[in-house]
This record gives sequence, C-alpha cells and structure tokens, in this order.
Amino acid sequence: MDHFPIFLAVEGRRIVVAGGGETALAKLRLLLKTTARITVVAEAAEPAVAALAAEGRIALIPRAFAPGDALCAALVYAAQDDAAEDARVARLARADGALVNIVDNLGDSQFITPAIVDRDPVTVAIGTEGAAPVLARAIKADLEARLPASLGLLARIGKRFRAAAEALPMGRKRREFWADYYFKDGPQAIDAEGEAGVEATLAALLGRHLAAAPAAGRVDLVGAGPGDPELLTLKARRLLDRADVVIHDRLVAPAILELARREAVLIDAGKQGFGPAMAQAEICALMVQHAAAGAHVVRLKGGDPSVYGRLDEEVAALDAASIGWSVVPGVTAASAAAAQIGQSLTQRDRNSALRFLTGHDMNGFAEQDWRGLARPGAVAAIYMGRRGARFLQGRLMMHGALPDTPVTAVENASRPEARVIATTLGRLPADLEGATPGAPVILLYGLAPRAAQAALPLLTEEFA
Ligand code: SAH
Repeated sequence: MDHFPIFLAVEGRRIVVAGGGETALAKLRLLLKTTARITVVAEAAEPAVAALAAEGRIALIPRAFAPGDALCAALVYAAQDDAAEDARVARLARADGALVNIVDNLGDSQFITPAIVDRDPVTVAIGTEGAAPVLARAIKADLEARLPASLGLLARIGKRFRAAAEALPMGRKRREFWADYYFKDGPQAIDAEGEAGVEATLAALLGRHLAAAPAAGRVDLVGAGPGDPELLTLKARRLLDRADVVIHDRLVAPAILELARREAVLIDAGKQGFGPAMAQAEICALMVQHAAAGAHVVRLKGGDPSVYGRLDEEVAALDAASIGWSVVPGVTAASAAAAQIGQSLTQRDRNSALRFLTGHDMNGFAEQDWRGLARPGAVAAIYMGRRGARFLQGRLMMHGALPDTPVTAVENASRPEARVIATTLGRLPADLEGATPGAPVILLYGLAPRAAQAALPLLTEEFA
C-alpha cells in the first residue's frame, strides 16, 4: 500500500483550490460537500465559480497563486490544467506546509482523492493508487446501487442515540441492537412513517434489547473450503462476520481470516502434520471456555469439517458442556483438486465409487482396502498422503496395481499458488519430492489431468 487511506477532519479548516476552470470546478463540487472553508485562487474564473463566490460558498481571490496563499491550509489542489503553473503552486504550497494534490498527476501529488460513495455520515472511499480508475468507477457504481439512500439518515439518527445505547453491555448485545436497527427496524420505520418514526423506533428497540435475557454462547463448526475465499459458503461468511472468537486451523488461508470481524479474537490452533500442535483436548477446552462465557465461537476448519476434521471429538466436548452447536459444510480438498484438473471424481463406466483415504492416521501409515484400490479404474482422493507416498505405492503394487496407474498431486488447490504434479504410481514418491515443502497436497489416485487423460489407455472397472 503506497497510499494509506484516512478520513481527514476538515470542519472549519481551509482547503485551497488553485484554478478557476472546469477541472477546478469538478473538485469544488466534491469539496462543497464538506464543512471546510474553501478558497479559490484564480486569475480567471468560470461563471459557475464566480457564482459560488457570489453565493458566499467559497472565497475567490482573483489573481495568480502567491507565497503564503496556502498558510494554515489543510489541503491544496493545483487544478489549473497547466503543468508548469501547477508545479509552481505545488512548490509554494508545500513551502507553506500544506499537503498538495496536482490533479491528474499522481507522481507529484502528496495525496490523492478517492472515488466516493456518499451516504453522509457513512462514506466509502475507493482507491486504486491510479492503477485502475475503471475498476474504482465500477466498484462505486456497484455500491451506489447496493446502499439504500436512507442509510445516511439512519446513521445520523443512530449517532445521536449512541450514548443511550451504552445502557447495553459492550460487545455482542450492543452489536445485535445496532444490527437490528440498521437492517430491520430502522429501514421498516422509514418505510412506514418516514424520518419522524425513527427515534421512537430506536427507543422501543432499546427497551426490547434491555429486557432480553443474556444471549447464550454457541459454537459453529464451519468449513472454510480449500483456500479461495470465493469458495466459502454464504453461511460461513455470515458467521465469520458475527463471531466473537474464531479458532482456526493452520490450513485456513489468510485471505479468509481477513473476513472475520476486526474485533474478533483470532486463535490459531495450527495443527501441523507430524509436528507440534495444540492438543485436541486443548482446542476443545478453548471452545467450551469461550462459549460458556457467552461468546459466539466459530471453529473454522479447512475444507469440510466432516472430512478428516476430528469433528466428533469437538462435538462430544460441546455436548458434554451443554453448549449449542451446528456444522456448516465446506468444499473439501478433493472437490477443489478435481476442479483444478478439470476432472470428474466419479465417471460412468470408470468408477461408480469414490474413496476418501488418509495417508496416515494416529497410529502411523493407514491400512486400506488395498485389493479394491488396486483394481483398474479405482479412484481415491488421498488426504495427508505426502509422507506416506512410498508406503502407498508399495501396498498398491503388492496388490496388483499397475505402475502406470495415473496419480495427480494437487498442491494448494483453488489458491493462486496452486500446482499440479501429474505422475504415475510408479513415479509417485520421486515426483512428490518436487512438491513445495509445507504446502497442502492431495493425491488423486486413478485420475490424470483432463488433457493428459485422453492420451492414456482407457482403464475400466467391471461393474456387477
Ligand atoms: N477437512 C479438510 C481436510 C483436512 S486434512 C478438507 O475437507 O479438505 C488435511 C489435508 O487436506 C492436507 O494434508 C491435504 O491433503 C488436504 N488439503 C486441504 N486443503 C488443501 C488444498 N487447498 N489443496 C490440496 N490439499 C488440501
């Protein structure tokens, strides 16, 4: 981030615009929305600029910019459509201690003006650091359509009510009150009675919330999917947005944790493959402890919580402590990996069954139905298979699997850094050495990437 977004307090402060033409006028339209005192310095002013001065909305100094014009100014815009003249203004204004923007000259400006969605006092500023004005405009148009015009009004009335709302304890109870106001009761009141009904609605709503019993804590065991934030379910997003505490696995991508509320407590339960980990009992105790204290806990797990997620141990701990819970499914790594290579996990005439395997379990490398897996056409998604690759290869070949059975390792499925290693059972351990250390890898046994599959001899399974 080369530009840090802030909201500058400008009430009563000076903002100076150098220039009186169309470019200056465009800036003035924006600046006149603020409570700043605006001065225009221009040798020649358009009639529209002169009219603003006549109305007393700006002060107009009808001459060229001079040393001292920017003294005590918070901001100065050089908007004269004349590069040499703008550079001169910028030099003088900087000497006076003001921050300077030269319109349409990112490199020489000390600040830039974002695209703005205005629902005063709610303002959304959109910036692309000059990289993509088209994008900024598209985002602005999208937000303009999405944010109701009454939002500003609701926020203005809400702001006056903030002191009264402090009667509610800080945290979830107060948040729920405001969420009801902004998303339910407030808009309803405006629709039904207009502005006049809003204050009475707020008072009634506060009464209801004060009378309500304290909310009980709960735990949602939520699948975060394979990493791409767009593969989160809407439900997962909503819960992340509300959670007081988020306890997450190592596998959960940082881009997804970003979606948690800023005030939420984030706890990394970071379980490593064979390495040091927060003990399962410790994770269960943490969930129970926070929920018992009234918190809404999201237990965020990579992929789907019900696939190699130790879900049952956590549910048992919650049941034992009489804490309410729910499970929110997610996209499991097998689905993401299949999508990555353009393949189907099941296929008529190839495999009517799909197996999920783990390369290792609590006791070491896991035993499987090797005979069934060795049959032509068998397909399996092998989780945590990296370390057990040689063991898998040995067992499968011992039971008759052909060395040229396709195996595709997909690391970081669905993420920008995703990588596909197309190999065969015979070459699997050697080729996996090339996988990125530390990256999650899933093996799709019996599947090759779609393009490569076409070149292979067709392997079919006999169906009864
Ligand atoms: N509950 C998870 C699986 C947890 S076990 C799910 O449903 O996906 C952890 C294993 O999942 C990793 O060792 C790896 O084999 C696999 N995995 C998880 N995310 C992955 C990803 N983005 N790409 C490839 N493999 C992944």
